[in-house]
Amino acid sequence: MAADCIFCKIVAGEIPATLVRRTDRLVAFRDVSPQAPVHVLVIPTEHLASLAEVRDGGLVGEMLMLARDIARDEKIADDGYRVVLNTNKNGGQTVFHLHLHLLGGRRLTWPPG
Ligand code: 5GP
Ligand code: ZN
Repeated sequence: MAADCIFCKIVAGEIPATLVRRTDRLVAFRDVSPQAPVHVLVIPTEHLASLAEVRDGGLVGEMLMLARDIARDEKIADDGYRVVLNTNKNGGQTVFHLHLHLLGGRRLTWPPG
């Protein structure tokens, strides 16, 4: 657990979040500022600041598969959805604990801003 990391605090239950799923290595919860009708964040329980710190690619695979399963549960899979992994300043990363965004429930525009 990293000091002063809000997502580590969510993993530890020290700050509240609306949990969607929990596995041995991952937690999924609803974004506090949703950008689409479904906006879920999937994070590892282990603190990794960004994609740059990942050594176990299998962990990222698990994150993707969980996002896919949640999309199915949230009934957005058939219409479609987007998985986003913002990295560092130009990528728009604001929380430095690795996370995937699962966004869906409306038509998303492309290219992103
Ligand atoms: P980033 O910009 O780093 O890719 O995404 C961080 C996301 O975390 C943002 O969409 C933001 O709304 C969300 N977020 C920030 N703080 C909290 C929090 O305390 N609880 C929840 N549920 N989401 C948060
Ligand atoms: Zn953390």
